[in-house]
Amino acid sequence: MQKSELKDIIGLLETPRKILITTHTNPDGDAIGSSLAMYGYLKKKGHDVSVMMPDPDPAFLSWMPFHSSLLVYRDQKEICLKIIEQSEIIFCLDYNGLGRLSDAEGDVRKAKAIKILIDHHRDPAPDFNYVFSVIETSSTAELVYDFITSCGDEVLIDHEIAACIYAGIITDTGSFSYSCNYEKTYLVTADLFRKGINGEHIHRLVYDTYSEERLRLLGYSISEKLVVLSEFNTAYIYLSKDDLDRFNYQIGDTEDVVNYALSIDGINLAALFSERNGIVRVSLRSKGNFPVNDIARKYFNGGGHINAAGADSYSSLEETVRTFVEMLPEYKEKLASVY
Ligand code: 5GP
Ligand code: MN
Repeated sequence: MQKSELKDIIGLLETPRKILITTHTNPDGDAIGSSLAMYGYLKKKGHDVSVMMPDPDPAFLSWMPFHSSLLVYRDQKEICLKIIEQSEIIFCLDYNGLGRLSDAEGDVRKAKAIKILIDHHRDPAPDFNYVFSVIETSSTAELVYDFITSCGDEVLIDHEIAACIYAGIITDTGSFSYSCNYEKTYLVTADLFRKGINGEHIHRLVYDTYSEERLRLLGYSISEKLVVLSEFNTAYIYLSKDDLDRFNYQIGDTEDVVNYALSIDGINLAALFSERNGIVRVSLRSKGNFPVNDIARKYFNGGGHINAAGADSYSSLEETVRTFVEMLPEYKEKLASVY
């Protein structure tokens, strides 16, 4: 973002505004963490702020400060529509195109508000008036920290806003294990501790609050539904609707399952296929320089980052898995050496 653009935005935020913060469908820790951090900040600046996600977030994020302010477009359409229409500014966090808003896309696209993107995905769509996009960063939450400090408001980051930012950073980096080869991420994190967060407690709230069924689903996924294709350095897990029903699946219960497939020595590409209502959710992960976002885009019309990408497939579970397995020979050599 140009200095002049930042100046424009600072100017816009000098007077109280009606502001809507939006994030992507199937929201994750960074989507919610960055959005709620921004919410806390803009409220402190005296704005009339709303925050909306297309569909509900997983329960392990519900401890977050300001969480009760979150509106769900899918369930609160009328209220959301009114807010979208009345907003002067719409912040778009952790997604790179309005297509990631699911059913809310059309209404947000029509809105006359100034749209400001803050995001870390490649190739932002031409849907926004201002674009603050940095790919080489841990998370959108870190970019929200940068945005607040660039506005000269670092002092407004209190322990609640800091907790939201920290949650975004740890969830998008697998607790500092990927997308975190940046000195700055650790400097920002150090500052969050200076602001008074309890990092250990936040980690427990995010990662040690599984239901018994979620843990058993994880065990079952690994022992019964994992397929290892050593010749392609690939492993995948596939879960049918019956599998999920058996363990009383709740939103977020399959998060992180794909990472266990990637944790095998020599496995450089991992996938999770899970059958939901009428769609198959595809989650892809890789090590090193193997670009799963390219695969998500090319074969499943999805997207994401180089080492973490996703998509919705409208084919059956079997067909989706077949598409995946059949494209592997093309990448055999690349998959053999990713570093
Ligand atoms: P996950 O596997 O955790 O659902 O998604 C991993 C990453 O891929 C997300 O952080 C997001 O950046 C991206 N992603 C997931 N699903 C989609 C999708 O349907 N479309 C696009 N463009 N990106 C996605
Ligand atoms: Mn993110």
